[in-house]
Amino acid sequence: MNEADRFQNIKFTDCNRWGLKMKFWFDTEFLEDGKTIELISIGVVAEDGRTYYAETPDAYSLCAESAWLKANVLSHLTGMSQPSITRPRVQIAREIIEFVGEKPEFWAYYCSYDWVALCQLYGRMIDLPKGWPMFCRDVKQLCVDLGNPKLPEQEGQEHNALADALWTKQAWEFLKEHSVAELPEV
Ligand SMILES: [Mg+2]
Repeated sequence: MNEADRFQNIKFTDCNRWGLKMKFWFDTEFLEDGKTIELISIGVVAEDGRTYYAETPDAYSLCAESAWLKANVLSHLTGMSQPSITRPRVQIAREIIEFVGEKPEFWAYYCSYDWVALCQLYGRMIDLPKGWPMFCRDVKQLCVDLGNPKLPEQEGQEHNALADALWTKQAWEFLKEHSVAELPEV
């Protein structure tokens, strides 16, 4: 995307300058018990189309601890058939830093738990990589702010973190078009 096109993004909202940063849409699968959030898998899609996907070494055993994860997530894990997808958390942490570059802008759908799961790869909040925002933007919040239009149906495998991240980007793009369409003509 050239600078002129990126500048168009600024018109999408009146309160930030996201067009000046690279956007990343991500999703995670995780096990949470009300006190902890354990990362199972993470998928990230960059504004320039690149994708990243990894599963943690205990992805399968974490899934086994929850009936919901067993029913909805387990069959979408790929670490058994593709062992290179499974990586130690420190490696995932390092690879995501390389993947997103210096000034990332993060988006997720119902992002709160996903954001904590991502941030905890680096430790505490103050341990977040330099240049990263200490917050995540939520496509659901954007949707509500724009009148809660019906978002496109997901065509990929729901509850596979990369498929969900790809859909999150698609939903954001839909909202961007929707918001431009809603703008009064001048
Ligand atoms: Mg998901």
